[in-house]
Amino acid sequence: MFSITNPFDLTILSDYQYITDSQAIQIIDINQKTFIQWKGQTVAERLKFIKNLIFALTNNKETLARQCTAEMGKPHKQAVAEVEKCRLLCEYYIDNAEQFLAPKTIKTDASESYVTYEPLGVILGVMPWNFPYWQVFRFAIPSVIAGNTVAVKHASNVAGCAIMIEKLFKEAGFPDGAYKNLLISGKQVEKVIENPIIKAVSLTGSEKAGASVAATAAKGIKKSVLELGGSNAFIILEDADIDKSAETAVTARMQNTGQSCIAAKRFLVHESLFDAFTKKFKERVEALKIGSPMDEDTYIGPLARIDLAEEVEKQVEESVKMGAKIITGGNRNNAFYEPTILTDVTTDMPVFKEEVFGPVAPVMPFSTFEEAVELSNATEFGLGVTVFTENIEAIKDKLHLFNEGAVFINALVKSDPALPFGGVKKSGFGRELAENGIKEFVNVKTVYIK
Ligand code: NAP
Repeated sequence: MFSITNPFDLTILSDYQYITDSQAIQIIDINQKTFIQWKGQTVAERLKFIKNLIFALTNNKETLARQCTAEMGKPHKQAVAEVEKCRLLCEYYIDNAEQFLAPKTIKTDASESYVTYEPLGVILGVMPWNFPYWQVFRFAIPSVIAGNTVAVKHASNVAGCAIMIEKLFKEAGFPDGAYKNLLISGKQVEKVIENPIIKAVSLTGSEKAGASVAATAAKGIKKSVLELGGSNAFIILEDADIDKSAETAVTARMQNTGQSCIAAKRFLVHESLFDAFTKKFKERVEALKIGSPMDEDTYIGPLARIDLAEEVEKQVEESVKMGAKIITGGNRNNAFYEPTILTDVTTDMPVFKEEVFGPVAPVMPFSTFEEAVELSNATEFGLGVTVFTENIEAIKDKLHLFNEGAVFINALVKSDPALPFGGVKKSGFGRELAENGIKEFVNVKTVYIK
């Protein structure tokens, strides 16, 4: 039995009981039975259910947003935006999936040769709480359109959101086993992956959970996709527009109260702009409204759990002990952690070398582009980087120097259904979204006719 606490007012929302291992097997058996008939449908037939899902999302938008705000503290306005983004993802695949999954003719010495994209079977998704709908949708939607069925083990602290997602699929008329919620603990995941029904696994979450899941999958020679942590740099070159970069920096670091894998987590500013940028950034950060996540003008709510806020507090305190200076913020109140900016940061401090999952922005000066690249790459992670410059052409041929899954120029790193999403190094492997995402869990079958 475990309880979910509202991180804003610390009231208990609900109590849940994990299902047993044998109940989990019964559920994935249903996934498997459904797979047999689901894979026989055409992509166009499957897309009809996705169209219904859009209706279900729209009809339930407010309830979904409120559940997310209650369980993990996301400001309501941002929770509504997350639900709307799920709709965009569905629309993107409705428009493109048939073309992505159509057989592709390839010229060889055969009279006819082509590849087809066939589903693998039941895919397990292990998902995090920070975008409780978006993360699940971007895994599950392309997977089911490709003809797989999915079982989702969601993060325990958003168990209510997880149940709601399953209800959406029911409301949309999907066959029972196309999408199943698995209310199991992290410890129970290994047994599920080991079950022969499960053909592959996708995990979005921490490096520790990712390593464990990938190891279990590898033992069974099953594919895994890992979307793990990040510590993106946000680089402001000498010729950047300071106002635009300061404004974007606030959203890049502070949206979702800093709890995003692709948030900018290290700000590298050309020494000539350092003071001016830091001043503007600080003014904007101090203007953010902190408060009840249900208030429409709140931008900074509580972190998702008190223990997560304590971890952020520890990372900042240790960095301060090592010489960092707090120029704004730095205080915790239960699950709330103030938006915080630090200067005098060095590469050995936790705020630089670890992923800080909260509203904390270390700002560091650099003097040359090469130094900025070196600092940007000086992390175990490799999700993305932002570069602000007014001279885009001058850096286009240097973007290969960034060891990242994405480079965004004059924009914050974001996910977009049309763009592949994923990382290198300890940020994981594989891609979600776009054509790459829908082809992660398919058998690319070669057909050769002499
Ligand atoms: P987490 O603790 O790793 O949890 C993620 C999921 O894994 C949860 O469902 C969790 O279940 C489960 N889990 C935990 N330990 C496990 C284990 N040993 N074996 C199998 N499953 C296990 O991560 P989080 O704190 O929820 O999320 C924050 C992390 O996710 C950050 O590092 C963030 O950067 C990363 N993230 C990455 C992306 C991306 O796309 N790259 C997107 C969002 C978040 P329980 O909740 O039951 O423990």
